[in-house]
Parts: sequence; structure tokens; C-alpha cells
Amino acid sequence: MKRPILIHPDPRLKQVAAPVPDLSDGLRTLAEDMLETMYDAPGIGLAAPQLGIGTRLIVLDCVKEEGEAPRPLVMFNPEVVAASDETSVYEEGCLSIPDQYGEVTRPAEVTVRWLDRDGNEQTETMDGLWATCVQHEIDHLDGKLFIDYLKPLRRQMITRKMVKLKRERARG
Ligand SMILES: [Zn+2]
Repeated sequence: MKRPILIHPDPRLKQVAAPVPDLSDGLRTLAEDMLETMYDAPGIGLAAPQLGIGTRLIVLDCVKEEGEAPRPLVMFNPEVVAASDETSVYEEGCLSIPDQYGEVTRPAEVTVRWLDRDGNEQTETMDGLWATCVQHEIDHLDGKLFIDYLKPLRRQMITRKMVKLKRERARG
């Protein structure tokens, strides 16, 4: 089931999400809903706080090549356990900040540890778009948005645009 995505600014996007103590059917259903919502948007990553749910759960699929099989990843309690000194710059966007983009510098390679849908611990080293995306999504779990990396003036401009967008949407 598709769920509505919160738009910045929203206090629920600034909160630190709580770790998942035990996997449940409810959480697995939430993960399925998040994948459906992400693919429909369309986007390459989504974090539970973007649906107003303060749980450490993210989903992502950064396969971009046409014809390549999708690779949906569900990560409970994801953690960056190692990061490269080497950095890379990507023009990032966010489903909670529609149509706004900004360059963000992050470690080019990160090793991430998480629990998969079956509760098994997984560890993987990611680079390229996957590395950027997983760091962006984990930031959401700590109440951090990509615009927090931008210069204050740019951040304020984007926030004003979003306030206006939300007002327009509320009006219908
Ligand atoms: Zn985002």
C-alpha cells in the first residue's frame, strides 16, 4: 500500500528515530509499503521518518541501468561502520523536498551494517550512487536532511519554496 510522504518543513523529519528491537510482521509490511511508495514516486531511497514513522528503517534501490534487474534493499537499524577518507560530490534530491537539488560532499565509500527482512545481520561496502543514497537515508533517521549540508541562504530559500508548496497543496 502506498503511503503519503511528508514534505519539509515538518517536525517529524527532524526527529531522531528509534532502533527496531524486534522484527514483526507489521514492520515487514511497513517495509513493503515503503518500497512501493519509493518506486511509485519514483525515487531511489526512502526512510520511515519521511512517512512520519520514527523507526530506524530505510529502503533503497539505486539500480539505474535500464534492463538491469531491480535490487530492493530493506535495512533495519542501518549503521555506517566504516567510511573512506576519499569523498565524492553528488547532486542530491529528496522525496520530502520535491524538485530541489544541491551538491553534497560525502565519503565516497562506506561499509554499512544492518538487519535484513529476516532479521539476519548483513554487511556491505558500497560506493558510487549506492554510497551516497545509503548515507542520505541514514541521515533521515537522525533527523538530518541534505539541505542541512548546503549554505544557510540556499537552505532558507528551499525551505521558503517548500512552505509555499505545502500551502498550495493544502488549498488543493
Ligand atoms: Zn531524502
